[in-house]
Amino acid sequence: MLGGGQIGGFFAEAALRFGYKVSVWDPSPNAPAKRFASTSFDAPFDDLDTLKKFAEVSDCASLEWENIPVALTDGLEKLIRVRPGSKSLGLAQDRSKEKQFLTDNHIPVAKYAVIENPSELGGVQLELPWIVKTATLGYDGHGQWRISSAQDIASTENVLKGDGPWVVEQVVPFKIELSVVVGFDGGTKIVNFPPTENIHENGILRISISPARISAEIERRAQDLAQEVIKNIGEPGVFCLEMFLLENGELLVNEIAPRPHNSGHHTIDTFTVSQYELQIRALAGLPLVNPQQITSSVLLNVLGDEYTNLTDLHATNSILKNQNARIYSYGKSDVRTGRKMGHILFNGPSQDDLLSDALETHKILAR
Ligand code: AMP
Repeated sequence: MLGGGQIGGFFAEAALRFGYKVSVWDPSPNAPAKRFASTSFDAPFDDLDTLKKFAEVSDCASLEWENIPVALTDGLEKLIRVRPGSKSLGLAQDRSKEKQFLTDNHIPVAKYAVIENPSELGGVQLELPWIVKTATLGYDGHGQWRISSAQDIASTENVLKGDGPWVVEQVVPFKIELSVVVGFDGGTKIVNFPPTENIHENGILRISISPARISAEIERRAQDLAQEVIKNIGEPGVFCLEMFLLENGELLVNEIAPRPHNSGHHTIDTFTVSQYELQIRALAGLPLVNPQQITSSVLLNVLGDEYTNLTDLHATNSILKNQNARIYSYGKSDVRTGRKMGHILFNGPSQDDLLSDALETHKILAR
């Protein structure tokens, strides 16, 4: 596993259950996934000695973070099986290439422009408001600026630092945000989870509701769109497509993640096959099956300091009195503002009850 965050951790836990051993490479010695690793590597991702050692102990590799250098997956691909591979990784880590790829394949996206220099911002011909995003290395709302007026254009020009390009997107008045996790064997078998409905706060995922509260017709179109994108990429693996659903029923693709997604953690508890099991099956060349949903869920992310409140015993006790609640802690040693520290999953038959439980718990943790 390249990358050692919570996604890599859930992958490793599932792989252990299959009987595999997992080596985890992450420059952070305390990376969460290393709790489940039989071999760990702490070197920077450009260390060629470690690349060789990692390939010696591993039959195949997958990833859990889109900012793994493509040079690393390129190098590994010459030695072992890597799924997904460098093509999807390269697309996902550069928003301008990703948008170009989607547009070339006639996949609907928000209107956008690409600028190489901050001074080009004033010349962008899109209706306001906009979101400016760094093309590379952005995550969880970092590297994003909202622009609503000519004044904002001037002030944002001064804040954009470092190398471009930047993608300038028109703000989409979406009704709902959706994510669809897809598993592909690279040949004819492609499967997916039903769309999950996501609520973000300041660009960070806060709540995921499964199944999304959408019509059967929109569900089908979202699934078809997600599968089409992954077939166009053509690489085997597990992917997540983030989308916007507009008031008029139109769907726009926002992002492709070449990995399982934080909006899919609930699949561990509420589907016959989890997104992590699908990642293992796709990687090991085992059969992909269509995941069947066992029960509905609402997932509440625990962000930053809320984790300190969660580990307060009174909060844990009151949350666990609810028989629908499960607490997941990722084992991250540093608490940072907005960092995903864990999640609480509420699952059961009534989505309304689950959502009100999640909102109530959010109040307790955000106090
Ligand atoms: P991203 O990093 O592109 O996933 O953006 C993070 C979040 O910002 C998204 O999940 C949306 O909530 C919001 N966002 C990003 N792009 C747009 C857009 N073009 N219009 C409206 N909201 C957006």
